[in-house]
Amino acid sequence: MKSIYIKSLAVLLFPTLFSMPMLGHTSDQKDTQWSYIGETGPKYWGDLGTENIACKQGLNQSPIDIKRTFDARLPSIKFDYSMLIGENIVNNGHSIQINVHKGGLIKLDGKDFFLKQFHFHSPSENMIDSQSFPLEAHFVHASEDGELAVVALLYRPGPPDAALDVLIKNLPMNVGDKNRLGAKDLEFLERSKKIKNYFRFNGSLTTPPCTEGVRWIVSHSHPSLSRMQLNAFQKALKHPNNRPIQPINARTILR
Ligand SMILES: [Zn+2]
Repeated sequence: MKSIYIKSLAVLLFPTLFSMPMLGHTSDQKDTQWSYIGETGPKYWGDLGTENIACKQGLNQSPIDIKRTFDARLPSIKFDYSMLIGENIVNNGHSIQINVHKGGLIKLDGKDFFLKQFHFHSPSENMIDSQSFPLEAHFVHASEDGELAVVALLYRPGPPDAALDVLIKNLPMNVGDKNRLGAKDLEFLERSKKIKNYFRFNGSLTTPPCTEGVRWIVSHSHPSLSRMQLNAFQKALKHPNNRPIQPINARTILR
């Protein structure tokens, strides 16, 4: 099992993002091999290479336990995925990731952030009042100047989510597997609406190189998924893929 984790390369998790200058990570750099267990697990990510220094020295790391929050009357966030076209669904050994061509957009701080990919963690990475959730989706957006915004959806146990079924039907079960997505496979995603209630804080990528300066938006609404749906994701993931909770330090969590 271990060799499977080690074989998996960081570059597969954020292929689009790694090419961005803000991450200081170019394609000719050797990627650190990391995993979720043992000597290449989260505790040691910061020691696996100088590019991962933020994993151990950063003060604004993700995920966090969302506990003390401040009511800042945050404005609704508009998102528009109406033109979204999916590319493929990949099992990269760290996560199940859906890469998208283009057509997904959120507006934050007067800036456009474009959806690059979304992927899943089980159990959830972020917690709310020390409560973990069975599944967490991360919608990773980037602005034209390379800033990142992640929208997190935490799933609670309950009735099945019809939207997830389309992905489950296409789940690549083995590391390295990839399935093409048809034009209609992302139709289940809510196409446009406002995210009204959410937590907001500064954080980082939850995987090496743990780059900081990421705007985190954690939605208050929790879609549900069934035991069977969760089993399907966990079977494909092969192992828990949640980084442990990181210290809040001087950060403020707004709601
Ligand atoms: Zn993630």
